Amino acid sequence: MFDYHVHSQNSVDCNFPIQRQCEAAIAAGVTELAITDHMEQEKADPGWGYYRPDVYFRELDEAREEFAGRLTLLRGVEVDFNYRTAPLVEKFIEEYGAEYDFIIGSVHYGDGGEIIFPEYFASRSLDEVIVPYLDNVKMAVETGWFSTIGHIDLPKRYTPKTHRTYDPLAYREHLQPIFASMIANNIGFEINTSGLRQTPKTSMPGPAVVRWYSEAGGKMITTGTDSHAPQTIGAGLARTLDMLQLCGIDTVASFRKRQATLVPIETLRAAN
Ligand SMILES: [Zn+2]
Ligand SMILES: [Zn+2]
Repeated sequence: MFDYHVHSQNSVDCNFPIQRQCEAAIAAGVTELAITDHMEQEKADPGWGYYRPDVYFRELDEAREEFAGRLTLLRGVEVDFNYRTAPLVEKFIEEYGAEYDFIIGSVHYGDGGEIIFPEYFASRSLDEVIVPYLDNVKMAVETGWFSTIGHIDLPKRYTPKTHRTYDPLAYREHLQPIFASMIANNIGFEINTSGLRQTPKTSMPGPAVVRWYSEAGGKMITTGTDSHAPQTIGAGLARTLDMLQLCGIDTVASFRKRQATLVPIETLRAAN
């Protein structure tokens, strides 16, 4: 199984060294692990300026040597993206893009540089949150900078009870052009299993979205737990493989130097 979304102490919201995450991955039956720390772009974010690519590369390469033969360890990063910060992201990709195996593009911020947390919904309807969010996702896809898109329906995780529950069907007309652009740009999205263990109790995205993408001809899916602690590494991945197959997806993407290979799900099961 591939866990392509795991944080380490190179993220401001995680205290665990890469080495600990590698040990946990091996114990959980993960065969390929991408450590994808936050590269923040918004100055208001507590993690702004925290991530140091040089420090990360050194620690990652040390762990890669230590766990050689037991775990395939990839140089990854979760890059925060939105229309306001796009020029900063471009600069980062130009400078460091070639150093990575795998780059997640994630939208975390909405209008005016406000983070999409429950408070963000207070003065906005669900549509006023989701539609601009998906516009930013579409823009992220069109840049061609990313290997995958992170948690494509993240706002559902933070929707307060004052709002109606997120139903992807209501946004299908916004998702379809994103899928078309993904297929054209050879980019997909991740199944972020953190949703299974947190509020939405469903992965981000859930099966309906996967099925629409698959019906549109999409095949590029990555899997990740978005773990900030060792105990959740690998969590929900086996279940996700079942879900993908039920939705018409038979492969999961593996990356080296930002080049994708599609690995049959049956092969992944056989490895465990
Ligand atoms: Zn994220
Ligand atoms: Zn993350």
